[in-house]
Amino acid sequence: MPGTADLAGLLAELEEQGLGRRRCVLEGPQGVRVRLDGRDCLSFSSNDYLGLANHPGLVFAAQLAAGRFGVGAGAAHLLTGHHQLHHELETAFSAFVGLPAALLFSTGYMANLGVVSALLERNGAVFADRLNHASLVDAARLSGADHQRYRHLDLDDLDRRLKSSKARARLIATDAVFSMDGDIAPVPELLELAERHDAWLYLDDAHGFGVLGEQGRGVLERHASHPKPHSPRLIYLATLGKAAGVAGACVAGSRELVEWLVNKARTYVFTTAMPPMLAAAALKSLELIATEAWRRQRLAVLVQRLQTGVVRLPWRLLPSETPIQPLLVGGNADALRLADGLRQRGILIPAIRPPTVPQGTARLRISLSAGHTEADVDTLLTALADLARP
Ligand SMILES: *Cc1c(COP(=O)(O)O)cnc(C)c1O
Repeated sequence: MPGTADLAGLLAELEEQGLGRRRCVLEGPQGVRVRLDGRDCLSFSSNDYLGLANHPGLVFAAQLAAGRFGVGAGAAHLLTGHHQLHHELETAFSAFVGLPAALLFSTGYMANLGVVSALLERNGAVFADRLNHASLVDAARLSGADHQRYRHLDLDDLDRRLKSSKARARLIATDAVFSMDGDIAPVPELLELAERHDAWLYLDDAHGFGVLGEQGRGVLERHASHPKPHSPRLIYLATLGKAAGVAGACVAGSRELVEWLVNKARTYVFTTAMPPMLAAAALKSLELIATEAWRRQRLAVLVQRLQTGVVRLPWRLLPSETPIQPLLVGGNADALRLADGLRQRGILIPAIRPPTVPQGTARLRISLSAGHTEADVDTLLTALADLARP
């Protein structure tokens, strides 16, 4: 760890290695057309999959709630910060996803830290897919439990590790939709393993909630044909800052689980409650997710159009049915060059490089939104074809 005098040198080193990170400034609302660093761009780089982040209905709900209840929650949930709107959101969320109870956290990151640490101690074990989101990695570390990372989607590897573990409390943790690949975890099989080995199954559906399933209830609805009633060992997390277009996260599971988390999840207990106005916006968002299936249908059309168009290009898309459509480029420099070329043409797509993804699999993470039109996808395809020419 750097001493106080070393940061400047370390930063210069980062720059030299091409690993320096910097932020662009967004002027105006999030959306498929954004003004970023003073330039208008067509963006394929947000997680606003349903185009709800700037929806007038959500804006109005937040304004109305701010007018009635103010801006800040002013206290933690266990003191006086637990507002009726938080309560309504939890009730609506648990009914929507079909689980007995739910608990609202201020962010998905905090939910992951809080839940894993509340359920496991040093003598427990987390079994985590190797491609899990950083917040789940940090959650396992913070809990102090044995952290076993199994090969991506490899149920045999997971089974072996569960079999040989002597830990009493065990938790399988996985992204439901993997954020850099767009592929989906095999939920029924994971639940079966959880049952066989007496483990919790924690599904982080940050990228599936709102998007998967006819009604947008996420990965559980996507696998609903599997004839298995929801098990009390299932823990479901949806974040509300991506497809839902707001902020925060809901964890759903058994009543006992939620009661335990109210008592033991430190990132729930020791933090100020989310502003009630955001809970009001999220309630409106749940309603739109449930009733406006056209947003998911639009996404499906756009995914299809992109996949068909990319066939003519020298790159391929990783197999994904979700709005996360990674275009595999390979080399870091090539990925950067392609992202730069697109940017010069007014199109915004981030190049994702190691260590975020494995060596040799640098990619453009194209993320589609219901706010895009087919013409937007065609614009992207034309620019890519242009950049493919030697
Ligand atoms: C974004 C993300 C989170 C964190 O959610 P926030 O609400 O943004 O803190 C957690 N897990 C996954 C898989 C994510 O993609």
